Amino acid sequence: MSRPIINTDDCIGCGICVDACPQEVLEVPNGVAEVVNEDSCIACGECLEECPMGAITEISED
Ligand code: SF4
Ligand code: SF4
Repeated sequence: MSRPIINTDDCIGCGICVDACPQEVLEVPNGVAEVVNEDSCIACGECLEECPMGAITEISED
């Protein structure tokens, strides 16, 4: 199972990762990005690459 690891201290809630994700894994419900659909993550890395703050630090594949 894959999921992006989000450093919430660095997240500014811009939503770019939400738009970048082809699987609708991420949402910004309260000004900070959250994983809402973990089962759908395909570990493509798009969210990590597009985040302007470097707040997505890795794609965990545990
Ligand atoms: S790695 Fe890909 S599928 Fe997984 S949350 Fe990021 S953009 Fe979405
Ligand atoms: S792209 Fe980065 S800064 Fe913007 S909402 Fe997503 S994790 Fe937060």
